[in-house]
Amino acid sequence: MTAHVLILGGTAEARRLAQELAGRPGLRVTSSLAGRVAEPRMPPGEIRVGGFGGVAGLAGWLRAHEVAVLVDATHPFAETMSAHAAEAAARTGTELLALSRPGWEAGPGDRWHWAASLAEAAALLPALGTRIFLTTGRLGLAAFADLGRLRFLIRSVEAPEPPLPRHTRVLLDRGPYTVAGERELLRTHAIDVLVTKDSGGQATAAKLTAARELGVPVVVVRRPARPAGVTVVTGVAEVLDRIRRISRAAADTCP
Ligand code: NAP
Repeated sequence: MTAHVLILGGTAEARRLAQELAGRPGLRVTSSLAGRVAEPRMPPGEIRVGGFGGVAGLAGWLRAHEVAVLVDATHPFAETMSAHAAEAAARTGTELLALSRPGWEAGPGDRWHWAASLAEAAALLPALGTRIFLTTGRLGLAAFADLGRLRFLIRSVEAPEPPLPRHTRVLLDRGPYTVAGERELLRTHAIDVLVTKDSGGQATAAKLTAARELGVPVVVVRRPARPAGVTVVTGVAEVLDRIRRISRAAADTCP
């Protein structure tokens, strides 16, 4: 019997999981991408692109494609998709695993300020500096638009969505980044505050080390809460183990 695994992706962990699962006997693996990035890094295996059409659409997809395990491996800040996954899994009785990399933690020498939202991060900035390196992604930047006295360097994979602050310079780039590269960037632009989401993981962590080395304060936006009752696992190996157990149990109950 073949167990169909649907991975909600858009992250390095989701790609790594798809790589690990590809070609394993007894498994069919589909990765789902939102379709926001023009040239996404493609995972191996079957791929579907674009929204499902809300909870009902996702629930319908899970039923129509007989999904046995749904893995929510979206970015920790993809709050809507995670909520939809929890609701659709509950409606359809599909096993749901949320794969979430651990958040970052401040170490000695770090000057971090936690914010509950982008709006709260924006409110902290005038007291911290004037040359801001904003790395929170292309969306939601309206929260910073009124900070006309500050200078922003905004880095994102795709062009940021307006409204943007008056003094803005855009840098289109995508990780992974190195500490040497990030140090150089902070120095070249005389950055005195870094703003980031608590994305976790290695690919974009170098900026935190560079900021520590240069004594630059960092505003860190907290993650949204996960939907209640969802099993959260932090590593690809644990997901593999659980999928193995779930598909074994399903095979045992097959007539
Ligand atoms: P979101 O706000 O949680 O989701 C908005 C809608 O986009 C969802 O309701 C869903 O549409 C669609 N969607 C999101 N992820 C999808 C997926 N993997 N497959 C199919 N449809 C998806 O999501 P977001 O924050 O805009 O993130 C979009 C994608 O970018 C995610 O895949 C995420 O992993 C990735 N990403 C996000 C961030 C971030 O900071 N938020 C950073 C890096 C990568 P329907 O309701 O129509 O199903």
